[in-house]
Amino acid sequence: MSAPIELAILEELASAERGPKRTKSLRARGSTLAPPEAQLLVLDDLPLERGDFDTALATCGWRELRPAPLEILQINVGRLCNMTCRHCHVDAGPDRVAENMDRETIDLCLAALDKTAAHTVDITGGAPELNPHFRYLVDQCVARGKHVIDRCNLTILLLPRFADLPAWFAERGVEVVCSLPHCRKRNTDSQRGDGTFEKSIEAIRRLNAAGYGHGDPRRRLTVMANPVGAFLAAPQAALEREWKADLARNHGITFDRLITLNNMPISRFLEWLQERGNLQEYMERLTNSFNPATVAGLMCRNTLSVSWDGTLHDCDFNQMLDIPVATADGRRPHIRDFDPDALQARRIRTRRHCFGCTAGAGSSCGGATA
Ligand code: SF4
Ligand code: SF4
Repeated sequence: MSAPIELAILEELASAERGPKRTKSLRARGSTLAPPEAQLLVLDDLPLERGDFDTALATCGWRELRPAPLEILQINVGRLCNMTCRHCHVDAGPDRVAENMDRETIDLCLAALDKTAAHTVDITGGAPELNPHFRYLVDQCVARGKHVIDRCNLTILLLPRFADLPAWFAERGVEVVCSLPHCRKRNTDSQRGDGTFEKSIEAIRRLNAAGYGHGDPRRRLTVMANPVGAFLAAPQAALEREWKADLARNHGITFDRLITLNNMPISRFLEWLQERGNLQEYMERLTNSFNPATVAGLMCRNTLSVSWDGTLHDCDFNQMLDIPVATADGRRPHIRDFDPDALQARRIRTRRHCFGCTAGAGSSCGGATA
């Protein structure tokens, strides 16, 4: 069952959508790329000399990719979003009202969490704040002593119903990991839609006013940057220094740390690569930049990803490609059947998109991995 979205929220989204806007979800446009299997086929069909991920792993001593101890439960509470960014790997957007985690599934996630030693709950979407049970989930995780991450697109904080969230997060010690493709307006707006940069700056200003971004570990503001184009993420430490100086000088705002993420060649970024004629070159860049030092820190090794309907995945990218975790009996794995020992013994499922995580300094929801 999907959680029903309040009519008032949908009206707010519709009004936020008016104005300059660059795209709709693949699903809303009926794109041939919308089904995950179509995306996997496109990637598999590319002629790539070093295009087999398992072979690449084996050449550096990883015959099988197996989990390390579970540290992070990542819960994707839905695909509804107030934005429709060009690079979105979720194919999220205002039309994705049907895919939202219901209360029963959230309670199943909490019951599963209680069976693990995971120290962090990473809440993502879409815009996770739009799920009607979002605040309940955060409170329940905080009550369990977990470190909670909200993956925030920033612009959501400007909608009137969410204006209290910076202070609400601050009271609970929630880490806000906010996505900002670039510290310059033109680059951010080209990926996320006109006007996004200014809204994002205003949202960071509000987070700063609530105590975020000033070095307090209980009010940590992390900026997640991803390349605006078909290239790899820039070195994380250098980018952090540059952006801190730039955003403070030009906008008077601060953040605590910056992490980088390579764009995954799936969903809307895959479409963008195809349209620009960059797909072959981008995949060659990823495969030729395979870095063995990134493998131990792959996020699929210490994280488990739950989708809005409760299906379990090795990571959020596999979730979007509908590649659930491998099970001994071949059944579709669901959070209601959560078995930590069986999951720990599983083999992680990989395909060509995985080269996005091992290229260069590596890439994950926690940033570079090498
Ligand atoms: S990238 Fe993030 S903010 Fe943009 S459409 Fe996707 S989920 Fe929403
Ligand atoms: S895409 Fe997922 S499964 Fe593949 S390497 Fe990255 S984190 Fe692991």
